[in-house]
Amino acid sequence: MWTKEELDRYHRQMILPQVGPEGQERLKRASVVVVGAGGLGVPVLQYLVAAGVGRVGIVEMDRVEVSNLHRQVLYATEDVGKPKALAAKERLLALNPLVRIDTYPVRLTSENALEILRPYDLVVDASDNFPTRYLVNDACVLLRKPLVYGAIYQFDGQVAVFHHLTPEGEMGPCYRCLFPKPPAPGSVPSCAEAGVFGVLPAVVGSLMAAEALKVLLGLGKPLAGHLLLYDALEASFRKLSLRRNPACPVCGDHPTQQDLIDYEAFCGL
Ligand SMILES: [Zn+2]
Repeated sequence: MWTKEELDRYHRQMILPQVGPEGQERLKRASVVVVGAGGLGVPVLQYLVAAGVGRVGIVEMDRVEVSNLHRQVLYATEDVGKPKALAAKERLLALNPLVRIDTYPVRLTSENALEILRPYDLVVDASDNFPTRYLVNDACVLLRKPLVYGAIYQFDGQVAVFHHLTPEGEMGPCYRCLFPKPPAPGSVPSCAEAGVFGVLPAVVGSLMAAEALKVLLGLGKPLAGHLLLYDALEASFRKLSLRRNPACPVCGDHPTQQDLIDYEAFCGL
């Protein structure tokens, strides 16, 4: 049974024929964990919480810095210095007190990743570094969970849904099928080093939120087996087709890696 508050709050999406009360019920029962509550994680968290996803996890160890605020618009100036996971929870519960929010103010590591990610239906990688990306990917393959991925660089972004059935009904590729090896250490600068267009993570993070909601609701064609590229300066999108690599060490036909590894070492750090 729906309360009046739920009916009022979710009315505009419940009247969509593709969602309906059944879809809203699916969201209420669903759980999503978001790794990273920075530029990408903020819009993902805002839209998942606003949409009524029943349980949302936030994995983030950083504190809010004043240099975050031009793009991480969930946080206010008064949040500077607070742990991001806790500041995010406070703001998100102000947006929608009907959802459960779990915080993990720790670094995701090979030791804790399976335990932290296991309770959730879907994982969102909104991290900003290669060791975490490979760790989250491998953990999702081992746990058999779909993974919504996004990444940004200056004015460019990319989005995909990994390890999920493609619209053709085949198991889609994982991050490692696409990027078997990490780039050389130091060859890809971070936002702190290279700068980032403040609205870029809002665009890419919103696309990630849309993919996450589509996966949870079983709607349309998720970006499984595809990589969507966004160029803010050209105002252009490109969609590339991807295939699962049968020789992938984690999701291939004969996986050679059946546990998590040392990702700092794997990335040459
Ligand atoms: Zn793979």
